[in-house]
Amino acid sequence: MPIQAEYIWLDGTQPTPLLRSKTKILPDFSGAITEMPLDEWGFDGSSTNQATGEASDCILKPVFQCPDPIRGGKNILVMCEVLLAKDASPHPTNTRAALEVVAKRHAAQEMIYGIEQEYTMLRLDGSPLGFPVGGYPGPQGPYYCGVGAGRVMGRDIIEEHTQACIDAGLKIAGTNAEVMPGQWEFQIGPVDALAVSDQMYIAHWLLHRIAEEYDVVISFAAKPEKGDWNGAGAHTNFSTKAMREGYDAVVAACEKLGTRVLEHVENYGHDIQSRLTGKHETAPWNKYSYGVSNRGASVRIPWQVARDQKGYAEDRRPNANCDPYTVTRLILETVCD
Ligand code: ADP
Ligand code: MN
Ligand code: MN
Ligand code: MN
Repeated sequence: MPIQAEYIWLDGTQPTPLLRSKTKILPDFSGAITEMPLDEWGFDGSSTNQATGEASDCILKPVFQCPDPIRGGKNILVMCEVLLAKDASPHPTNTRAALEVVAKRHAAQEMIYGIEQEYTMLRLDGSPLGFPVGGYPGPQGPYYCGVGAGRVMGRDIIEEHTQACIDAGLKIAGTNAEVMPGQWEFQIGPVDALAVSDQMYIAHWLLHRIAEEYDVVISFAAKPEKGDWNGAGAHTNFSTKAMREGYDAVVAACEKLGTRVLEHVENYGHDIQSRLTGKHETAPWNKYSYGVSNRGASVRIPWQVARDQKGYAEDRRPNANCDPYTVTRLILETVCD
């Protein structure tokens, strides 16, 4: 039977790119579908803010493939990079290509990441799921890791999405309901920079796709509700081999992150100043700090890492709408260069 391959890529929407995808029908393949050789493909970049009408073709280069848990069978999902048609060089929107160079340069340090992806479920009118129509729910408190009607909303979507990530072979590490009603989290990792980012985008695509069936919009906005409501982040946990073996390397990594503060924050997602205010478990965006167990610091060293004198650190600054290719590249450069 022919196989459906869903080619997925990031478009040129500013300030935060959107995912796009289209389906390619391929002849049956007898081997493991994750090893099926895939051709490059193309799309109309003038419809995705990636090209002009006169020179509209962009190239899709497959970089990661996994079973498609929605279509099932031998169907696959394919994460792609975008290349320019004129010379097959990386398109300006292709942030993965730059990460690949840095990841190769520092392969010996064996950096791995676990990213905690927070997001908000919205109704089609833009209001958060769990907010009464035209109004506000009770203040934050009972929602984080809650159970029961009125405390959690959208659990069907979480259940489906988590199983879909598992069936796709992604390294999903866990899920939880977040502090603001309608807000949730899942984690991917720990795996290397390219893997965590490719898998994260496949997980995003699955989340959007599953929520479609419920008429729910998935928002990665950093501060979806103004006022006394938590923003949405993408805490990025990271460790080199040296950090996993000794505490001095953990502290040294935290110190190094303090040497390029603005460059990180400016590339950690749109509207970061609205989220990193110093309130709601954040540190102010322009004041770098790190500390053990401190959820009000830019970078937290988990308590068990201090106890074990080895492990990892958590950069709490990236927004939910950050680009993991860019975030993991910056951490690699700053900690390892
Ligand atoms: P939090 O307490 O901040 O909510 P989570 O349990 O949500 O933490 O997420 C922790 C993440 O850290 C997980 O994705 C996990 O895979 C990742 N992680 C665990 N150990 C390491 C490590 N040594 N290096 C990098 N990431 C790690
Ligand atoms: Mn978490
Ligand atoms: Mn969280
Ligand atoms: Mn966290």
